[in-house]
Amino acid sequence: MNYFSLNKKAPNTTFKNAVIKGLAPDKGLYFPEKIEPLPKSFFDTIGALSNTEIAYETIKQFVSPDIPESVLKTIIEDTLCFDFPVIPINETISTLELFHGPTMAFKDVGARFMARCLGYFNTGKTEQVTVLVATSGDTGGAVANGFLDVKGVNVVILYPSGKVSDIQEKQLTTLGQNITALEVDGAFDDCQDMVKRAFLDEELTSVMQLTSANSINVARWLPQLFYFMFAYKSLHKTHRTIVFSIPSGNFGNICAGMMAQQLGLPIKHFIAANNANNVVTEYLKTNSYNPKPSVQTISNAMDVGNPSNFIRIQEIYNHNFDILKNNLSSYSFTDNETKMAIKELYDTYNYISDPHGAVGYLGCKAFLKSHPDTYCVFLETAHPTKFLDVVESVISETIDLPPQIKAVIDKEKVATKISNYGALKDFLLTSVH
Ligand SMILES: *Cc1c(COP(=O)(O)O)cnc(C)c1O
Repeated sequence: MNYFSLNKKAPNTTFKNAVIKGLAPDKGLYFPEKIEPLPKSFFDTIGALSNTEIAYETIKQFVSPDIPESVLKTIIEDTLCFDFPVIPINETISTLELFHGPTMAFKDVGARFMARCLGYFNTGKTEQVTVLVATSGDTGGAVANGFLDVKGVNVVILYPSGKVSDIQEKQLTTLGQNITALEVDGAFDDCQDMVKRAFLDEELTSVMQLTSANSINVARWLPQLFYFMFAYKSLHKTHRTIVFSIPSGNFGNICAGMMAQQLGLPIKHFIAANNANNVVTEYLKTNSYNPKPSVQTISNAMDVGNPSNFIRIQEIYNHNFDILKNNLSSYSFTDNETKMAIKELYDTYNYISDPHGAVGYLGCKAFLKSHPDTYCVFLETAHPTKFLDVVESVISETIDLPPQIKAVIDKEKVATKISNYGALKDFLLTSVH
């Protein structure tokens, strides 16, 4: 598969090159040249397929011929070494739990897949690739874990000092080896700005190959298609129409669901569940797209004022507002509503959700009000212990720490403090290659 830049001012390129570059030279996001639907028989027999078989059929057109069949199968098996259960909440709502990976964030799948692709592309090479990533919390841990010990790849993670949870900080500062954490005196936006500036800095890019591990990278974004296929495998016997409610920040996950729909997955509608960062909710109301600075919420992985993947969604629906509205609804919820939802899920259904999943649940409830015949699946994108303070105080219970979290909690944090771009640049030039 070749990819084109959504800015249309750069040459088309291979999967391999799109992964290594991250963004196109014209700063556009890469998008597949064509999308070949899967045969109907695939969906009719999905119940008999294993997760790895489903994943293989789903992604092979996007990565061939750069990754040969046998290598792709191994990459998928290594990536998907945990479960993706669908848990019923009530008669019309269930949740797809995406937090059973090593860092208990849904980003584990994309990070593991991308790391293994880059590792494969680097086999036998002497030059190193440096993955530079800014995190508001979950991305850092998933990327650090996914890329740990991948040959030829260095990972540098920037995170805002004092603004990620203790568990998240431990997950990204305790691994060592090819992973370095930079603790930035500033906010997430400052980390993001520094990373963007580094990608544009020719003094850096002329001496090192920098790439991104955010969902703009096709190798992190596309494996998220698997989730929707896995959920359908569990639910394909349902007689109701299935819709998905996706807690959204950069809109990578929901956009992957829409790609699954393009492959033929029989899903008629998506719900973008947002916190107070409501650019898309407003857009669907007004047909006017107005990015704004992000505001801080308790579902902080969705504190995004200008979702980077929305342009891909526009492309999927031909930049046609009416087609988009037919396929997408969006609602925005306050922190208070989110807390009430965590409480309701616990008190009524004995289910402990994290704040992001709770926003997804609210999205289901809002949609079901006007579409009572549908069956709604919300994505639970992080384990509740990653947001321990909020969840424990709302449900007035303590939660047991799962083994993945216990394993890092007593390790010693190692991070280098930086406060400006100059310090990042010095660090990259002196320490990384
Ligand atoms: C990243 C993240 C999201 C948002 O996903 P997008 O693909 O950016 O829309 C939601 N929940 C959690 C827990 C996350 O880490």
